[in-house]
Amino acid sequence: MSEYDYQRPKGTADILPGEVEAWEKIEGVARDLFPKFGYRGIRTPMFEDYNVFARNVGDTSDIVEKQMYDFEDKGGRRIALRPEGTAGTVRAYVQNKLFGPEFPKPYKVYYMGPMFRYERPQSGRQRQFNQIGCEALNSESPQIDVEVISMALQFFDRLKVKNLKLVINTLGDTETRDAYREALINYLKPFYDQLSDDSKKRLYKNPLRVLDSKDAEDQKIVENAPSILDCLSDYSRNYFEQIKKLLDELGIDYEIDSDMVRGLDYYTQTIFEIMSNADIFGGDYVTVCGGGRYNGLISQLGGPDEGGIGFGMGVERLLLLLKDENPDFAPKEVADVFLAAADDEGDDLAFKMLDQLRKKEVTADKDYQGIKVGSQIKEAIRKNARYYAVIGKREVTDGTIDLVNTENRETTTVNINEFTERPMEFLK
Ligand code: ATP
Ligand code: MG
Repeated sequence: MSEYDYQRPKGTADILPGEVEAWEKIEGVARDLFPKFGYRGIRTPMFEDYNVFARNVGDTSDIVEKQMYDFEDKGGRRIALRPEGTAGTVRAYVQNKLFGPEFPKPYKVYYMGPMFRYERPQSGRQRQFNQIGCEALNSESPQIDVEVISMALQFFDRLKVKNLKLVINTLGDTETRDAYREALINYLKPFYDQLSDDSKKRLYKNPLRVLDSKDAEDQKIVENAPSILDCLSDYSRNYFEQIKKLLDELGIDYEIDSDMVRGLDYYTQTIFEIMSNADIFGGDYVTVCGGGRYNGLISQLGGPDEGGIGFGMGVERLLLLLKDENPDFAPKEVADVFLAAADDEGDDLAFKMLDQLRKKEVTADKDYQGIKVGSQIKEAIRKNARYYAVIGKREVTDGTIDLVNTENRETTTVNINEFTERPMEFLK
């Protein structure tokens, strides 16, 4: 194996300088916006006990059945790299007793970081990918649901993402899902032989999963299936009516898709997706943000019987969109000033000046490769430096430098001490 034969693992990406700026911009919007809604940052481990994600053997989601990145560690523990942020956040909420009387209710948190799913890699689908997400724990109020949706939409709005649609549905409470389960099994049973193998397996375990099948034949069968909206309990119907009313009041447009189920089994009541059909996705609607309510999850993880709601958005997919729609997302290198050296004395002075300038928060750079002055000036231009100066014996003796504005080529002679004292006055 030659030294260049090392490859990054399948389904991972190197995010290089030039791209990281765009990531930081997106993350910056979340850090600025989410606290305005009362959310504070939380950081939980990237791996957890496998059972945090696979809480019951009946879990039928692809994420738990097929996509877990799990392994046994040296101590014989079954570990899983987190496939999503909610379960770990709820585990931390319960373990740290954040439901206690001294903590705010709802307890609102947001996070950003890598998630892991063993999937077939393709555009916008990786094995390590990143999500920005939030959770509002200990809450069961339609206002919180709508606030969470509004926060997600405002996030995209700030990033100037266009042509998004919000799709909502309800999965109701236990009573609703028991009734719907029965209706769905009765409808699907006669089609049993035509169903895909996955759907056959899931029919009795969790027939709602069949609605989510990507198999074309399954999708045709599902088209005429009964709707969950006809099975809602009084509480669930009223809750969903409230959601729609509040969305209307905030002027938020939405579609209802009664077949939408989402990729995890813990969802209850309100679920939603924010989708884009940007050209870059080939014209189909692709989900860039998905979320919903999970009223049984906190107690399943050993906490009190409280509700919660949150969302997760995929940063890679969002970036594909942004690069397409928003020219600000073609980041370039920037600098305030570049100090070129004409000789060794000039180089020594430039090195010292850089240190002083950076202490004054100037973005400053020089050459370290000993290249010719002409090439150093080219480097200044390549770095998009707004100014450059050539420093040599003469400048060292005179105590002045000629600052050249790279845009209009105007040159100003400035005193070096004054410049390093108050650099921004000269770098306007
Ligand atoms: P999909 O149906 O596209 O597989 P999902 O339902 O599995 O999505 P969620 O679990 O709701 O997705 O995750 C929320 C968001 O995270 C998705 O809308 C997407 O933007 C992103 N996401 C999910 N899986 C991946 C992945 N493997 N690679 C990149 N982004 C992903
Ligand atoms: Mg998926």
